[in-house]
Amino acid sequence: MDYRGLFEDAIDTLRREKRYRVFADLERIAGHFPKAIYRDSADNEREITIWCSNDYLGMGQHQKVISAMQETAGKLGTGAGGTRNIAGTNRPLVELERSLADLHRKEAALVFTSGFVSNEASISTIARLIPNCLVISDQLNHASMIAGVKQSGMEKKIFRHNDMKHLREILEAAGKDRPKMIVFESVYSMDGDVAPIEEIADLADEFNALTYIDEVHAVGMYGPRGAGICERDGLMQRIDIIEGTMAKAFGVMGGYITASQPIVDAVRSYASEFIFTTALPPALCAAAHASIEHLKSSTVEREGQQRQAQRAKEILGAAGLPVMPTNTHIVPVIVGDARRCKAASDMLMDKHNIYIQPINYPTVPKDTERLRITPTPLHTDEMLFELRDALVSVWKNLDLPMNIDTSQLTAQALNSGDLVLPTTGG
Ligand SMILES: *Cc1c(COP(=O)(O)O)cnc(C)c1O
Repeated sequence: MDYRGLFEDAIDTLRREKRYRVFADLERIAGHFPKAIYRDSADNEREITIWCSNDYLGMGQHQKVISAMQETAGKLGTGAGGTRNIAGTNRPLVELERSLADLHRKEAALVFTSGFVSNEASISTIARLIPNCLVISDQLNHASMIAGVKQSGMEKKIFRHNDMKHLREILEAAGKDRPKMIVFESVYSMDGDVAPIEEIADLADEFNALTYIDEVHAVGMYGPRGAGICERDGLMQRIDIIEGTMAKAFGVMGGYITASQPIVDAVRSYASEFIFTTALPPALCAAAHASIEHLKSSTVEREGQQRQAQRAKEILGAAGLPVMPTNTHIVPVIVGDARRCKAASDMLMDKHNIYIQPINYPTVPKDTERLRITPTPLHTDEMLFELRDALVSVWKNLDLPMNIDTSQLTAQALNSGDLVLPTTGG
């Protein structure tokens, strides 16, 4: 067996399909968000502007957050020293879980090493503990939720993205008596659209289902205290399990669920992904805690983000760029072809010192390849105009579609495959 050749072939397949990923060598400059130093393949460095970070509010460089991490590492050291069973729960982790339960107004919270792990562990464990559970999952759910559903080994049904008619059909077919869990997200991060949470909660009540929501792309950013879309819409009490991350708007790392005390205790007690891994370091917990508490009372970051996202949509749209309409902070600009999406991203970096990674299949469906722009409160208007000029230049250079009817570029149309983008060349 030619093992080496086998892996080379696997990589070649990705290259042929234009799916081979190259990571940018970036060094963010604390205090100069969203600026970073970029090093090319020859290690030549230059300063660039990042436009696609999930550090949505710049909290990863907030002085309170940096200080909390530094001071805690100085006092408690670096690692946690073991799993929670072995090393106990470090004090900053106790405080962090209290803060998270309070954020979502739930009885309890449980922290994991990442948002990915929190979804995989929680969805699989909860579903497994419910006899004959049917897991009903939105078609566009994140890979970590799909992993949780698979890992549970329970029967699953997929409903078309945000399609309440389809969800009802599935619930009706299952009947009121069969135990069920509906798993979905609030903000879908690639299209920037939002689930009809209240309708899902109504259906769950009607058919006696448990509800599990991923608010990863909403926590810190929506609601009066930054608890997410459920808080904004007054729906936190109607969802059984709320999952989130501390790695995006909170700017640190780690994932969590919040729910009733018995659900959290069951996941704590049964989930291998929680039990058999070292706990988050105290300094990291303290930093996340500082960020969460700051955003419970400070709204300037959220307001600044919404303002700059709105301006980005207006300015880029007015220049004729195909901005997909969204009601959130996510600004997708559609390219519709993997090779040219990568070319656009490369040209932005090489000619304009702007970093926006290409989003290609399988992260999004084929023919909906895009640049996903995430303006933050720290992107100035001047940076926005630079971005507009750079994008227009790249779009002209690569002969990409401009001045098309973007009202058609909805998540539904893109994902149903009904939409055929006008291509002017290539
Ligand atoms: C990023 C992401 C996760 C995983 O969170 P991490 O903390 O980065 O592991 C989970 N769900 C969704 C929808 C995500 O986009």
